[in-house]
Amino acid sequence: SFTADVVPQAPEDALFGLAAAFRRDESPNKVDLGIGAYRDNNAKPWVLPVVKQADDILRSDPNLNHEYLPIAGLAEFTSASQNLVLQGDSPAITDKRITSLQTVSGTGAVHLGALFLSKFYKPNTQRTAYFSDPTWPNHFQIFSNVGLPYKTYPYFHKETKGLDFEGMVNTIQSAEEGSIIVLHACAHNPTGVDPTQEQWKKLAELIRAKKHFPFFDTAYQGFASGDVARDAWAIRYFVEQGFELCIAQSYAKNFGLYGERAGCFHFVTSPSPDAQSTVSRVASQLAILQRSEISNPPAYGARIASKVLNDRDLFAQWEKDLKTMSGRIIEMRKALRGKLEELGTPGKWNHITEQIGMFSFTGLTEKQVDSLRETSHVYMTKNGRISMAGLNTNNVEYFAKAVDKAVR
Ligand code: PLP
Repeated sequence: SFTADVVPQAPEDALFGLAAAFRRDESPNKVDLGIGAYRDNNAKPWVLPVVKQADDILRSDPNLNHEYLPIAGLAEFTSASQNLVLQGDSPAITDKRITSLQTVSGTGAVHLGALFLSKFYKPNTQRTAYFSDPTWPNHFQIFSNVGLPYKTYPYFHKETKGLDFEGMVNTIQSAEEGSIIVLHACAHNPTGVDPTQEQWKKLAELIRAKKHFPFFDTAYQGFASGDVARDAWAIRYFVEQGFELCIAQSYAKNFGLYGERAGCFHFVTSPSPDAQSTVSRVASQLAILQRSEISNPPAYGARIASKVLNDRDLFAQWEKDLKTMSGRIIEMRKALRGKLEELGTPGKWNHITEQIGMFSFTGLTEKQVDSLRETSHVYMTKNGRISMAGLNTNNVEYFAKAVDKAVR
């Protein structure tokens, strides 16, 4: 019989543990570079002006109610999400080769995709999901919780602090045919290092040759470069090449809707005479999985995103807001690199401006990270990742000096 006293203690979530330690710290100088959420120049959460506008419109609607959404979510949200991640005129959309379900943010989308693959992707055979090393740590738990074994492919090059493309290619090349290859669409978490377009093309060739199954995780579209098309380039390229693939899309960062849990899962089939029938069967199975897990997704965040995505003026305002966020982060990259170089801090710091998106993989060692926390009240993950959004014009110099002290 089951007794709960056999349950072992699980480790605390590293990131949320770090946030709690930061809150306990009473130093007025403390700096939070842990969690991946945007902060404005005063280190405060930022409600995007366009989100405020959409919120006002929604709240003034006398017909707004709290009914259930359909199982697949809000239709105008899922179709707008297809248009955002692909392009409205993508053949995958016009040929109806894509099915989409609204999910509990990006996490829910990754989970729904992993669950679907665990049931239907080459069942009863050995299949493995490959993640970049390092990756968003939740990938490991999500895939293993649905019973999919995983391995990793090399990604980060310790010396150059850029992409280990050769290592990545070699491992994907030698992976068993038909493996699931999880790819970050842009602004790789935690490294901030992305393949170039040429490298993406080579990866697509390789993945095709090995009959692997690509699974894109896109949590930073528009947030990385400020340009939604540019940040979706890799996914759009793979879809143009006719791959069958999954996309897990999050609106947490690019809309600042973290706690509202707005996301979308897309399954795209290859062009074929049976494509529509395949998609409709896939959709029917996804609906059952969704129903058993969450019944139907939460409404409010999707309503906000949908308002914006489906309105030309609001969309234009959103693009401005994306530029505000990405622009401030790019400025902070320049400022941090500039200060470190000015101080003559040992090491090279060009990767700070070459990496993209919310995070930078600084190359700081675990020991240096500990000393930054103990002596300077700077909080970051032990792998040396910093959330660029935690820096601002008031603390970037303080942080640079703290790094300087820690590495000497
Ligand atoms: N995937 C990656 C790579 C991420 O970095 C994140 C968030 O940090 C997510 C997915 C999902 O986040 P959320 O569930 O908040 O949308």
